[in-house]
Amino acid sequence: MTRKKCIQYTAPQNKAALSITTKKDRASGSCPPGCAVTHVSSPFVNIELIISYRTDTCLSLPELVPAAQQLSDILLTEHFFSDSNSLPKPTCRKGCSHCCKYLVGISPAEAYYLAELVETYPDARQRFLNNSSVILQACDQLAYIHESRFSHLEQDSKNSEFISNWYSELKLSCPLLENDVCKVYNHRPLVCREHLTTSQPQACRPDSPNEPEILPMPFSVAELLMNVCAELENSMPESILLPLSLPWSHANTTRKTQKWPVKTVLNVLINQLNRITQSQVLKA
Ligand code: SF4
Repeated sequence: MTRKKCIQYTAPQNKAALSITTKKDRASGSCPPGCAVTHVSSPFVNIELIISYRTDTCLSLPELVPAAQQLSDILLTEHFFSDSNSLPKPTCRKGCSHCCKYLVGISPAEAYYLAELVETYPDARQRFLNNSSVILQACDQLAYIHESRFSHLEQDSKNSEFISNWYSELKLSCPLLENDVCKVYNHRPLVCREHLTTSQPQACRPDSPNEPEILPMPFSVAELLMNVCAELENSMPESILLPLSLPWSHANTTRKTQKWPVKTVLNVLINQLNRITQSQVLKA
């Protein structure tokens, strides 16, 4: 399927190109042009989302990320931090960084977004380069990783546990971790936002004999964004290894510059939201 592509892009001025809020955050009044309302309803979440967009805009993959982060934050607030629910509260705290020693995969949109961000932090950029060099050298010893290189690894569930264990042996922390604090906390990837536990911090250590108790999200916005990227690019969902996102981004510059009309992005986003929530209804 070929989608119409924009030639021109008008940079956002006062209003974000795409943003997501909940009904209660919205000023009263009808939805103006450049605004869509969608109801997300499943056994785990029931919420009205207001999606605001600039009608004259085209968006690239990394430009989808701020709206996806807003959506993830809305779900977390509604689901775990609302006073009206009785779910256990996460025990995750600033300074606890055991989960930042694991290998995680992110969507192409977030890989580009992070790579742009990292360019503004010379120390983090250097850690990325050091870590990716260690990982790629170690990859040379593993034929199937070497072949696929930076991505798709998480799609291969047969090898994912083996790869996680292999990565743990390298004893690398996320290059964005500094003094046990995430250097880009407000911009951290969706998979990091959505990883919350209720167990004691020690259970999250890579060498812990106990499994941490992970809080299930109403749905994964990380997965949603991966699927939105795939549908826009007319390809299979792709998972980029976070520590390799910098070299991956440099090796895939063409995809970063491709843009889609905001209405196309909106349709894909709402379709994928519906697809995820409907699959939850069917499973329940
Ligand atoms: S991006 Fe931040 S939160 Fe995520 S693994 Fe890296 S340091 Fe931890």
